[in-house]
Amino acid sequence: MSAPVTTCSLKIDVDTHEGMRDGVPRLLKSFRAARVRATFFLSFGPDNAGKAIWNVFRTKGFLRKMVKTGAPKLYGWRTVLSGTVLPARPIATAFPDLVRRIAGEGHEVGVHAWDHRLWQDHLSELSPERIAQEYALSFEAFERIMGRRAESAAAPAWRATAASWRVQDTLGLRYASDCRGGDPCYPVLDGYRSTTLQVPTTQPCLEELLTLGERDLERCAERLLAIAPETRAPVLPLHAEVEGGAYEPFLEIVLRKMRERGLTTRTLREAADAALASSEPPPVRTMCAAPLSGRAGRVISPAA
Ligand SMILES: [Zn+2]
Repeated sequence: MSAPVTTCSLKIDVDTHEGMRDGVPRLLKSFRAARVRATFFLSFGPDNAGKAIWNVFRTKGFLRKMVKTGAPKLYGWRTVLSGTVLPARPIATAFPDLVRRIAGEGHEVGVHAWDHRLWQDHLSELSPERIAQEYALSFEAFERIMGRRAESAAAPAWRATAASWRVQDTLGLRYASDCRGGDPCYPVLDGYRSTTLQVPTTQPCLEELLTLGERDLERCAERLLAIAPETRAPVLPLHAEVEGGAYEPFLEIVLRKMRERGLTTRTLREAADAALASSEPPPVRTMCAAPLSGRAGRVISPAA
């Protein structure tokens, strides 16, 4: 029988200007009070979130669902319109002091994206050179602000391709977190075996649970924390725009339940290091792009 799960990692994606400006400071405050450490993956470039949200609206069947879940409530109207009728504002590059403060408060900072929307909606159409440029822009921004190279990355919307992993493998990362489901592994996608360790997200995110029709935040928190006992590196996904915004009460429920269960936190970097130091080294695992309930697009996850 597996030992009970005693530690987990919080993966915070920062996708928008407002998520960075308002959500991140709120999350830092909550984490300080709860004595929790997390990993923040930042989008550095333009906030084109409005384009991505409108794209989801146009997807057949998702209009009704998105109206039901309330995208404007989740993201705010400025973000829903950002990069559409209103200009795209820079995300993390607009707040260098705040980026440094995240690390200063004991959290890990990694790269999420340069142009989050471009990656999320158009990755499969990008040339290897364009993918390399997206990574270069975000890594240069990280280095300018932090004074050191980024050691971790997490792809927007859990989207990757063999081409994007070929580029990512040249970055010398300690690990990446681009996948959904399973334990840390070296992934194979469309015949390409990546040399970068993957630490996947193992739990569902709140937006998915809301899209699936779950309304009770206590039950959403239970589902987020329903960690399978054999999970070696549980990773809980949070968004600065969501749990650092209108759904802050949800985060407080999650943090309370974690405290009640004696669930401690470690950064994804620490989870990666533990996997690498383990007597059972991370396996090679075949991945595919598969649909995930509650999401509009496909995500990279273990092939059945
Ligand atoms: Zn994101």
